[in-house]
Amino acid sequence: MNTNLEDTYRHKGLRKQLVEQLRAKGITNEAVLSAINEVPRHIFLDSSFVELAYQDMAFPIGSGQTISQPHTVAFQTQLLQVEKGMKVLEIGTGSGYQACVLAAMGAKVFTIERQRNLYFKTKGIIEQLPFRVKTFLGDGYEGLPTYAPFDRVIITAGAPSIPEALVQQMKTGGIMVIPIDQPENEGQTMLRVVKSDDGSLKQESFGDFKFVPMLKEIGND
Ligand code: SAH
Repeated sequence: MNTNLEDTYRHKGLRKQLVEQLRAKGITNEAVLSAINEVPRHIFLDSSFVELAYQDMAFPIGSGQTISQPHTVAFQTQLLQVEKGMKVLEIGTGSGYQACVLAAMGAKVFTIERQRNLYFKTKGIIEQLPFRVKTFLGDGYEGLPTYAPFDRVIITAGAPSIPEALVQQMKTGGIMVIPIDQPENEGQTMLRVVKSDDGSLKQESFGDFKFVPMLKEIGND
């Protein structure tokens, strides 16, 4: 675990530059940019990557998983249209960075990770930070029926289809942002799904991305 919680002026300066890069790449939501400016991304990486924490790149975080690229985090968060006080369910805690960005925007975040070792490592990091994030070890395909309904659902792993249980756990008018597998190009298309009054789903797509796969059941792999 990275126990170096220091957030220096240098880190803060690098974060400001990252925010400007994201702005240049088309991220316009000021609440999202301000959350990226607030969350110390270097703390979520293994210490050998600290120097690179504020490049717009994905990195390995152990257990074969990655912390998403800042642009992808900002892009998904912007699509999610988060407002203060909303209940947000995240599938794929990974490093915990995306969850803390959502919490920095004032959301009440519930996040599920299926990978046992990563779950405990990340829980340890989040507990040392001032963000309100509840972590769960479990299978994201099942969601968190006990805590439903959610205003927003964000999936941060490549899913073969929209998981039905997660749709059930969304409020009417709720929004889900989910990368859906496109087997022909080995990546995913980002979808925003709105649950309308009659329960039907309205979908829009927002370009191609590359995520690790959304797998079933808790694993030690
Ligand atoms: N949001 C993360 C990026 C996660 S990478 C971050 O900010 O760092 C995707 C994560 O989803 C991996 O950690 C992977 O183990 C997890 N995952 C894959 N399938 C899952 C499932 N069914 N339920 C919960 N987590 C899952």
